[in-house]
Amino acid sequence: NSEPKKEDLQRIIDLMDGFRASKALFTASKMCVFDLLQSRPGLDAAQVAQEIKASVKGTECLLEACASLGLLKSKERTCQKPAYENADLATCFLPTDAPFSLRGYIQHCNESVWPLFSHLESAVREGANQREKAFGKTSKDMFQDTFYDSQEVKLRFMNAMHSIAKATGKSVATAFDLSSFKTACDLGGCTGALAYEFTKAHPGLSVTVFDLPTVVEMSEQFHPLRADNRVSFVAGDFFKDELPKADLYILARVLHDWSDENVQILLSKIADACTPGCGLLLSEIFLDEDRSGPSRGLLQALSMSEGKQRSATEYSLLLKSRGFITAHVRHTENLLDAMLCIKV
Ligand code: SAM
Repeated sequence: NSEPKKEDLQRIIDLMDGFRASKALFTASKMCVFDLLQSRPGLDAAQVAQEIKASVKGTECLLEACASLGLLKSKERTCQKPAYENADLATCFLPTDAPFSLRGYIQHCNESVWPLFSHLESAVREGANQREKAFGKTSKDMFQDTFYDSQEVKLRFMNAMHSIAKATGKSVATAFDLSSFKTACDLGGCTGALAYEFTKAHPGLSVTVFDLPTVVEMSEQFHPLRADNRVSFVAGDFFKDELPKADLYILARVLHDWSDENVQILLSKIADACTPGCGLLLSEIFLDEDRSGPSRGLLQALSMSEGKQRSATEYSLLLKSRGFITAHVRHTENLLDAMLCIKV
């Protein structure tokens, strides 16, 4: 029995410690540590503790842990406690108003995904989502029954979608030449963050965001200036209501939430609204064809409800059965991949 390799030992330790690192990041983000140090760099632990209304001892531990993870920089000072500031990584992604802030998504992971993962064993044993154990709710439709039944949870979910859409939107919007399309409809377009990226990237394109009424009524909070009159909002249920007419339909992070049967219902409604030549742009994490990765997608599947993660080929086959042929697939090197299909 030879000694384990050093790098193997390190890798397994990193995996075991991953949850501690995640929770330290989530907690520092929730307690506004990165916002505070962005506006007032150079505070020591006692000053941070006072501002975030926490114990000095606990704050010291949290700041040291965040510094060890590369999120904070600490400056040693003679005869004084170390002073902290955000490291570049934190400056880029963690303050609330950073252009690529992921704080909304981090809060969602902390409040909505973490509780589900703490019931992972039951989820695996039962092959069912654990919303009831985690949140006291059985849900037929997780959006209408779980995410949107309180204003607080709804806003948190919308913030999460908004932050990811802002971080990935440009890569998705510029993945293909869309110059032949004049009107698009972003189905399940949530806050409209992606729609704004599409109009920025394509000066000739107008985008209608279609989402549930409870979402559309809050969308203005995310774009108080209504910066672009080529983005408009329509409220409705994409399983039941008539879809707005468009040359290009966008489905970003929507299909993975639904079973094949529900995907077929939605795709057939889109197919009915399309004339030949219309486009459908799909954006999701595409699993490797042998389902060996990426682990980001496979780990996400562990807490999903009725949906599933699929490969580009699986999506193409679902779309083909509704008369769409896959024209291009792009692995964007951002968080989401993209596929452009054309209705024949
Ligand atoms: N497309 C957005 C993005 O990529 O950031 C949001 C993705 S989010 C996972 C799914 C979206 O689908 C939510 O905004 C949700 O409100 C919307 N949605 C869920 N069920 C819907 C329905 N029946 N009709 C219309 N929109 C729905």
